[in-house]
Amino acid sequence: MKENEFLNELTKLNINLTVEQQEKLKIYAEFLLTYNEHTNLTAIKNIDEVYLKHFYDSLTLSKIANFTNESLLDIGTGAGFPGLVLAIVYPNLQVTLLDSNNKKIKFLQECLSKLNLKNVTLVQERAEVYTKNNREKFDYVTSRAVAELRILLELGIPSLKVNGHFLIMKANLSAEEKSNSLGALKELSSSITNTIEFTLPKEDSHRTILDIEKNLKTDHQYPRTYDKIKKKILK
Ligand code: SAM
Repeated sequence: MKENEFLNELTKLNINLTVEQQEKLKIYAEFLLTYNEHTNLTAIKNIDEVYLKHFYDSLTLSKIANFTNESLLDIGTGAGFPGLVLAIVYPNLQVTLLDSNNKKIKFLQECLSKLNLKNVTLVQERAEVYTKNNREKFDYVTSRAVAELRILLELGIPSLKVNGHFLIMKANLSAEEKSNSLGALKELSSSITNTIEFTLPKEDSHRTILDIEKNLKTDHQYPRTYDKIKKKILK
């Protein structure tokens, strides 16, 4: 997807970027590809694919949420998807980018030094440690391609405010993975309020976004340590 096609597709999502935002995305895309030559961050190797599979894909969250000036935690952000793209496009959104991986955080640090954003906090930590210590804090939690749904729910929900939304992005979410998560949702006092499925423009690859609302405060036993989460997955 060329940059002009990207901008055109965004208008269909009611997103109109300023010239400054377009510039920031271009700096981000070019830096990602240059950095990726020596440090593996993404399988994507050309700028048209960055615009489609990272930038446009990240912004499909606007199909399901109206971002303005809320707080948002992006778990397992990797090279910044979707969190850093949202921070550029929604400058009043307060975005925390979280990943445990040192090389991803180092890339993001360098990238942020080029972008002059005032609404981003970067954290290198395991999600289950961070969300245990930062409870009921965020309006939104997001996560793209990080873990199986039941695990992800335990990692993310503790950090949501009551009535906050966990927006989970997956390329392929089976009906089984979704129905298997019902016990975990109940245990974490949350419910699926919306599911949208669509294909990306240009190449028709399938996407699912789940919108999960937290209904009550999370029991203090969650999240457990990662070995416990894995050994005894919530059912
Ligand atoms: N969200 C990005 C994207 O869609 O391009 C990155 C996806 S990558 C497949 C998964 C990322 O999640 C990795 O960067 C990994 O370090 C991070 N991750 C996985 N489990 C995590 C955990 N428990 N705490 C923090 N980060 C985690």
